[in-house]
Amino acid sequence: MRRLRRVKIVATLGPASNSEKVIEDLARAGADVFRINMSHASHDLMRETVAKIRSVERLLSHPLGILVDLQGPKLRVGKFAEGAVQLVAGQKFTLDSSDAPGTKDRVNLPHSEIIESVSVGDRLLLDDGKLQLKATRVGGGAIETEVIYGGKLSDRKGVSLPDTLLPVGALTEKDHDDLLAGLAADCDWVALSFVQRPEDIIDVRKIVQGRAGVMAKIEKPQAVERLEEIIKLCDAFMIARGDLGVEMPIEQVPGLQKRMIRVARRYGKPVVVATQMLESMISSPVPTRAEVSDVSIAVFEGADAIMLSAESASGQYPVEAVTMMNKVAMAVESDVNYRGIIRAQAAEPEATAADAISAATRQVAETLDLAAIVTYTSSGSTAIRAARERPSKPILALSPNQRTVRRLSVVWGVHCVESPDAVNLEDMVDRACIIAYQAALARPGDRIAITAGIPLGTPGATNMLRIAFVRQDGAGSS
Ligand code: PGA
Ligand code: MN
Repeated sequence: MRRLRRVKIVATLGPASNSEKVIEDLARAGADVFRINMSHASHDLMRETVAKIRSVERLLSHPLGILVDLQGPKLRVGKFAEGAVQLVAGQKFTLDSSDAPGTKDRVNLPHSEIIESVSVGDRLLLDDGKLQLKATRVGGGAIETEVIYGGKLSDRKGVSLPDTLLPVGALTEKDHDDLLAGLAADCDWVALSFVQRPEDIIDVRKIVQGRAGVMAKIEKPQAVERLEEIIKLCDAFMIARGDLGVEMPIEQVPGLQKRMIRVARRYGKPVVVATQMLESMISSPVPTRAEVSDVSIAVFEGADAIMLSAESASGQYPVEAVTMMNKVAMAVESDVNYRGIIRAQAAEPEATAADAISAATRQVAETLDLAAIVTYTSSGSTAIRAARERPSKPILALSPNQRTVRRLSVVWGVHCVESPDAVNLEDMVDRACIIAYQAALARPGDRIAITAGIPLGTPGATNMLRIAFVRQDGAGSS
């Protein structure tokens, strides 16, 4: 099973798609990575879901990525005596540390450390921004506010504080437990929600210790301000447009998305565009024109992956949603303007041997019209650098590490196959040709470009580019 598109698809699993049958259908329809949302999944459910994904992976003989998404410090109000209240613009409303049931005048905010960090004038956005409050007085364990936009506020609704730097790391106690459970279950990626500072990533890396890729979810203005520092530290990041569109003026999100995709390209960090991409497909078998356009913009920009949330987790048409994303992506990638747009955003190679060789390889493959670029990669970093070039030729990554093979499922344009390190140069050429042939990436008579590190099998030492002929028997000669 080889994808005929370069952008990858991340599908969130949930009640609509947790069965092995649907997971298989989603993978066949085009899902490359499955996301398990720890805001909703228990550890048992997460482990069962991982086992089902691995079973589908074996069935299809195709690597599938698993992304465990940690809830992060999502703030919520407490409960109300009657389940909900109606807030009216202009009225006063207090959030405090008393756990007495809420009324129309006050409710509990069960995060006392947060209360003290709010300043007068800061906004509080409730229920995905549907209600807005402004802090008028802070102290004594309470935030007094004035209601700017009113509406219904019910139990446990989310609170966003876009103007406040919160005195919390991105990892709550629950996240810490979920992270350890995800690592024990052998997930490939962990996503951190509500990252605010570079230290948030450093703290998590210390726990993860390379056992999974660390993905930062950019969904707070504080993270946007320190974007480059954060991006340098993580392995990949997600443009989490749901919360980003609450915490920042929504009209700035499209521009930020473009900017972030370009920064991702510059640093060679995989980037996932997420949330509401085909939102109406939660309850309709066809998307809106605007949604199709939104998906296509992310693909034209050269995002590594596009993501489905409720569409595949709890909607009525999970498989149709993946099928639609796949079709839109394929149409964009064969559009006459696609290559030009992708090339226009090319980033200069960094001054390393691996990067110089990646850039040269793209050039050689395109000039000589080679069938494919084959990279030997141990950690996956050489494959990511090859992808950063966004070559018009397919990239085949060969790695002896199953973890690397699975992790690369989120990276643009990389078809990755598990294969032991080559023992000598002849073996290196043969292996590359045979696997390219088996994956239908090259036919006899075609030529391919091969990159590797000499001495063979040394991680982080890509220093060689070779051109080889695929022979009649699928093996190679140079
Ligand atoms: P979430 O993250 O679905 O976990 O909130 C994505 C987003 O905020 O867009
Ligand atoms: Mn979010």
